[in-house]
Amino acid sequence: MKKAQFVMVWFLPLVVIGGFFYPILGYFVLLAILFMLILSIFKARFWCWNFCPRGSYLDLGLSKISRNKAMPRIFTKEWFRWTLFAIIMSLFIFQIIRAGGSIKAIGLVFVIMCAVSTIIATILGVAMKHRTWCMICPMGLLQEKIGKIKKHG
Ligand code: SF4
Repeated sequence: MKKAQFVMVWFLPLVVIGGFFYPILGYFVLLAILFMLILSIFKARFWCWNFCPRGSYLDLGLSKISRNKAMPRIFTKEWFRWTLFAIIMSLFIFQIIRAGGSIKAIGLVFVIMCAVSTIIATILGVAMKHRTWCMICPMGLLQEKIGKIKKHG
């Protein structure tokens, strides 16, 4: 466990609880995405193991109650991860368009996206390995691929 995780973990409740009262807090998610994608150019998943608030929550909290069971092999398959990526991103883009340009409504889309994925990550993390969500997380996949392009480029 990294020291930074003890600080970063607090951004999770800030967004997934506070965001329902102040949707503008959802823009933290956008900032985090931009930051992690830039960082991944230099170090593929450095964000994931050191700074990600949800990853920190999974490491610091959920790991204590996880059944620590192996995840289904399908979660490791590229086609499955990309399919999930396409579904989640399509839903996300659809919601952003539906927000109609409202700053608050767009912020709320980020908050809801973060809250729903945290609930899924929690269920998966208790039932299987605590970081199971990280295997299929769209942002984790993107960082991994960006890092590889840089490595081979
Ligand atoms: S895979 Fe996703 S949830 Fe897991 S640490 Fe990386 S960005 Fe965070």
